[in-house]
Amino acid sequence: MTDMKTIAELDRASVLHPFTQLKDFATGRMGDPTIVTGGQGVRIQDATGRSYIDGFAGLYCVNIGYGRTEVAEAIARQAYKLAYYHSYAAHTTEELAILSGRLVKMAPGKPSKVFYGLSGSDANETQAKLVWYYNNLRGQPKKKKIISRERGYHGCSVVSGSMTGMSFYHDHMDLPFPGILHTGSPHHYWGAEAGETEEAFSKRRAAELEQLILREGPETVGGFIGEPVLGTGGITPPPAGYWQEIQAVLRRYDVLLIADEVICGFGRTGADFGCTLYGIEPDLVTVAKGLTSGYMPLSGVIVGEKVYGVMEDAADRIGAFSHGYTYSGHPIAAAAANAVLDIVEKERLSERARVVGAHFQKQLKERFAQMEIVGEVRGVGLLGAIEFVADRHSKRRFDPQQKVGARISKAARDRGLIARAMPHGDILGFAPPLVVSEAEIDEMVDLAYQATKQVMDELA
Ligand code: PLP
Repeated sequence: MTDMKTIAELDRASVLHPFTQLKDFATGRMGDPTIVTGGQGVRIQDATGRSYIDGFAGLYCVNIGYGRTEVAEAIARQAYKLAYYHSYAAHTTEELAILSGRLVKMAPGKPSKVFYGLSGSDANETQAKLVWYYNNLRGQPKKKKIISRERGYHGCSVVSGSMTGMSFYHDHMDLPFPGILHTGSPHHYWGAEAGETEEAFSKRRAAELEQLILREGPETVGGFIGEPVLGTGGITPPPAGYWQEIQAVLRRYDVLLIADEVICGFGRTGADFGCTLYGIEPDLVTVAKGLTSGYMPLSGVIVGEKVYGVMEDAADRIGAFSHGYTYSGHPIAAAAANAVLDIVEKERLSERARVVGAHFQKQLKERFAQMEIVGEVRGVGLLGAIEFVADRHSKRRFDPQQKVGARISKAARDRGLIARAMPHGDILGFAPPLVVSEAEIDEMVDLAYQATKQVMDELA
């Protein structure tokens, strides 16, 4: 076996790592790559033999935990039987048909069909094409603009990266793409005016959305995309009444609603889908991450009856639906998804996320809410965040140069906990596997507390 020093050298010499400061990595300023060698339950190990609680389930995806042999076996079985066939021109496999039937049965809205990709980004790229396709087919060729929210995260390909509402994902990359617009973020803590209730704030955000649609011309606005709980932009549950207000505006102007369930789907919030929890009735749904718990790359675009009906009705006139990837509906990924969904159902992971999640939210609030450098503790189910501020009374932020969020995340890591420094602001994010126990939650919260205390003392 190649020794780990050689692996690290090979990596540094040849991998272009996502979201990495290239010079820091190339020169060794940020140290050697962490070589992850194994995982079991909620923990991973690295090549030095260190073990960490993975408080972020990889990238909010390993919901069933690491090392689930049932899924490994399902993958192997399918690989031995038939490693690949495509799904173009009415070809299918057993696993693909079974998975699709399950998704159509369980998904929110009025699901009709599922289209498959490999990542959340490509799925949202497909969503944009569907909004354009649908409106072309029904004779509304100008109704093409798509609105997303500031601080929303929908991926980083050309259109999905444009939907993402954080400028550092656009800078130097010529995004956003024309026709993708942004409206205000649903974050009450930062967005509300003095004394404004959550309900009033939600109404204001909906009124702003309406003004944007009217300014652009409703005949030019085709879609709206949002995560039920804003994820990478800060792990922010919606303020009270938000989705009801937003949906009323979308209906008024005949704008399709795309629910990006990439993080929320399959139990993360304590409900099967974020849509279920917040009463969202989407026209289109994006799923990925929890669909396979990261055991294989797979995403899905769940097309509702309204959109699908228009597509099928136009088919005799326009011919085939000309969109798809070599690996759309890959049978090994579909087998992995079926095995993962078996676990999600058998172990009732949504319910578990609700119950253990309530304990988690309580612990986070109890340990952190009163700390001097904490502005807000928030979350739902097994999604949580702590936002750090220099002055909790005036909500003054820390100087970004102090890198407070990153330092706390690093101090946690040094103690054996992975909790993510979220990219926007000083926020420590949590999204542990849904199989996490209450004892592991306590351990996680305690390590995060010690890490925060350490950095708070350094700042004093
Ligand atoms: N949508 C949401 C809500 C996400 O959180 C992410 C990734 O974190 C994506 C889309 C993009 O998914 P991927 O990284 O698989 O392209």
